[in-house]
Amino acid sequence: MSDIDGQTNVLSLRTGSGSIDGLGRELGRFVVATMPIPWQLVRDRLGAVPMAVIHVESMERDVLERQLAELPECDTILAVGGGQAIDLGKYFAWRRGARLVTVPTIISVDAFVTPKAAVRLQHRVEYVGHASPDPLVIDYQLIRSAPPELNIAGVGDILSIHTATFDWELAHRAGHHEHPFSPDDVARARDLVANVERLADEIRRVTDAGLQAIVDGYLRVNTICLPADHYRAEEGSEHYLFYELEERLARPFIHGQIVGLGIYILSRLQQNRVEWITSLLDRIGLRYHPVDLDIDRPTLAESLRNLRRFVRARNLWHTIIDEREITDAWIDAKLAGLRFASR
Ligand SMILES: [Zn+2]
Repeated sequence: MSDIDGQTNVLSLRTGSGSIDGLGRELGRFVVATMPIPWQLVRDRLGAVPMAVIHVESMERDVLERQLAELPECDTILAVGGGQAIDLGKYFAWRRGARLVTVPTIISVDAFVTPKAAVRLQHRVEYVGHASPDPLVIDYQLIRSAPPELNIAGVGDILSIHTATFDWELAHRAGHHEHPFSPDDVARARDLVANVERLADEIRRVTDAGLQAIVDGYLRVNTICLPADHYRAEEGSEHYLFYELEERLARPFIHGQIVGLGIYILSRLQQNRVEWITSLLDRIGLRYHPVDLDIDRPTLAESLRNLRRFVRARNLWHTIIDEREITDAWIDAKLAGLRFASR
């Protein structure tokens, strides 16, 4: 996997089961950013004792600044855990100018390959700073200790390329050129979906090869999106449905799963290889049905009815939502294949 060229943000990469063993001995004076469960999994394997262990309390920026002020002097920030623990580590490393080492214990989101930390300012997400892991440590065995469906959810932000690149092309044809269309980037991005398709059974079984396909996909998405300075290759109408639902329901979701629901629905509005992408979602075992996300039918129908108004009010990029009307009849027909939570 070291054959990634281009801008990845990841300065070095170490993979393999057991790759965290003894890691602490290479870090000098180090501080750990983590959460209780992931820290429990790794602390006896590092071979060294950190100067301090800081747990995620909240990603609100004033909380982060308070924690930062209490950090001891150190050479390295070791981030261990899921998206928030990794973001906490990125934030500290950025603000302190320290070396960053990241150990994801789950790969359900791409925080461990992106340079900015997602923080909150009065509950609104903001992406700040810049920190690159050296190394990023992918310990397959450690990652497999997380529930399989959460690691499988990691494919959501790779499969979203299917609907996002369609939207990007649509915007280009409709005369929106704020993100100059690149057929080459689109071809490279679609190759990542093809790679996930080739390894679908490995991903479903959460094997080393399956986990590697997801990590590799994230790294390569970055080589496309970071130089372009936008995420149109992997973010479009499928994410917009998620934004609407998140605002409507005011609760968090497992990102890859709700993006999966977006891919299911918006690929249908696009009339974009619907059978193929649906069977791929199913083969991988991504949980995208509303019942898995605790969404009932009236809520989803209302969200879809509101979607165009929502994207226009937010001034979001031009997508299929701007071009094809979502009618009640369409909603009835397309939601028929989904399983819902009952109320
Ligand atoms: Zn996403």
